[in-house]
Amino acid sequence: MEYAATIAQARALFGVSPRPLGFVPTMGALHEGHLELVRRARARCAAVAVSIFVNPLQFGPSEDLARYPRDLERDSEKLAGAGVDVLFAPDAAIMYPDGFSTSVDVGRLGETLEGAIRPGHFRGVATVVAKLLHVVQPDLLFLGQKDAQQTAVLRKMIRDLAFPAEAVIEPTVRERDGLAMSSRNAYLDSAQRAQAPSLYRALLTMRQALERGEAKSQAIAAATAVLAPAAKLDYLDLVDGETFEPLDTLKPPAFVVGAARFGETRLIDNLWIPS
Ligand code: AMP
Repeated sequence: MEYAATIAQARALFGVSPRPLGFVPTMGALHEGHLELVRRARARCAAVAVSIFVNPLQFGPSEDLARYPRDLERDSEKLAGAGVDVLFAPDAAIMYPDGFSTSVDVGRLGETLEGAIRPGHFRGVATVVAKLLHVVQPDLLFLGQKDAQQTAVLRKMIRDLAFPAEAVIEPTVRERDGLAMSSRNAYLDSAQRAQAPSLYRALLTMRQALERGEAKSQAIAAATAVLAPAAKLDYLDLVDGETFEPLDTLKPPAFVVGAARFGETRLIDNLWIPS
């Protein structure tokens, strides 16, 4: 595996990459969800690039930027073992040198739901991924459905700004008990870890109720009853599969989406309802 830390090093490697080139952007602290994206990229592409960058622009002032888990050495070993060709791991001064001020804003889609609770989050995500796409210039961009609204934001950015890359969305990888894998699961103590899968069970309950024809309010009530009592719910909702605006009734394609806090740790999850 080759390693690039600067944009010049990355361009030198990616400029001569075999094609198609697949790209998996991450914030590191890699788990099976990330490695599954790498495997899917490996299966479809002649070369695979991964980035590790904990992007300060997508964290709010009171969020977990400082304590976000970082372990570049172990991550590098995992990626080398998974057959990754190039790891791009810049630091913040490389991505955001003095005077950096440009941003990418996708509009309303970035302001609803997660974007309403985390103002500026999706602007940070779109801005960093736009820059990474310019550095890597991949043919295929591999993203996880775990962050469903993020995938919609990035697909919109790619479409609106004619980035010459195609987004490929891969299913959420879960622990045996249903908890969606996330780097933030490492924050959970054992009691919180035991409660955390209730978010997934709540979403399953809500989807089943909607598919049985129950009203949204009833479906949300049934789902809330399944959530561990200690969890603090940010939202459970039924939203449009493209715009992420709330739906009053089930009109697929749609997502049931949820966000809840277990102690200090905020987890999100979703289920897809295809048309
Ligand atoms: P992150 O490191 O959390 O920014 O995630 C990097 C990429 O991995 C994003 O496209 C995520 O959606 C994806 N990802 C994170 N967790 C999972 C998971 N459990 N299953 C599938 N993809 C995931």
